[in-house]
Amino acid sequence: MLNKISDSIYYLSNQDDRERPVLGLVCGEEASLIIDCGNSPQHAKEFLAEISKLDVPPVKYAVITHAHWDHFMGMNEFDAMAVVNTETDGLLQKWQSLSYGDSSLQTYVNSGFMNAKCMEVLQEDMPNRETFKLKPSDIIFEKTLVIDLGNKKCVLEKIRSTHTDDSTIVYIPDDKVIFLGDAAYGTTTNTLFHIKQPLLLPMIQDIQKYDAEWSVLGHESICDREEMELYWKELIAASAAAESASVEAGEENFKVQNNREPNGNELFFIKAFANDHVIRHQQ
Ligand SMILES: [Zn+2]
Repeated sequence: MLNKISDSIYYLSNQDDRERPVLGLVCGEEASLIIDCGNSPQHAKEFLAEISKLDVPPVKYAVITHAHWDHFMGMNEFDAMAVVNTETDGLLQKWQSLSYGDSSLQTYVNSGFMNAKCMEVLQEDMPNRETFKLKPSDIIFEKTLVIDLGNKKCVLEKIRSTHTDDSTIVYIPDDKVIFLGDAAYGTTTNTLFHIKQPLLLPMIQDIQKYDAEWSVLGHESICDREEMELYWKELIAASAAAESASVEAGEENFKVQNNREPNGNELFFIKAFANDHVIRHQQ
């Protein structure tokens, strides 16, 4: 079942055990737009089945928030124009050239290009993959793009992000709703989870310039204004404390700077920022 945020905005919840992210739907008077295409054709079909239960205009645009497989592998199922930023387009071209038979998938996993969960999901959800080809993008934008669905504007922007360098967000001014994809998360490099510290404040600046009552995150559905403000506050405090690769030093700094122990989230963030020091010194 789709969750309803407003009269024109819905989302399908994430499903963590199958690595399925949140999928969004925005409806105007003439057309609809989806945010992310699902992690497999099966996921996309289930989303389309839910959309068909609503009396809404046809899906004309499919925005892919970034080039991580779980957000785009279902894109062929939509009879819609795929909308991406130039950087995402560049990354997707590699996936368009791939073959999806079992031995090819295994090769990509062995080389580290594809993660094992991606192979597992594709093998489970797509029994016939031998001739599968991912379709190309249709609308490619550099920095920002406004799409009018008929009395309903969607603002797309490629923002600075702690997750990837190709993160697109979608803001719907009428409803004060923002879809963040995975932009606000950290990332994993060489099996180490880290949050790109130099990008934290620029990212928050890019996101907070939109007046959002509701924020939809890629893998945990929806947050209200207060929850997002708390999330940013905890991240900023953790980042200010994490001055080096040492988690212990980060914890100590936190106590001095805030006159209290870090909570569970803050401790998790301090570790992720300390890991970022490790990663940056490797480069
Ligand atoms: Zn991602």
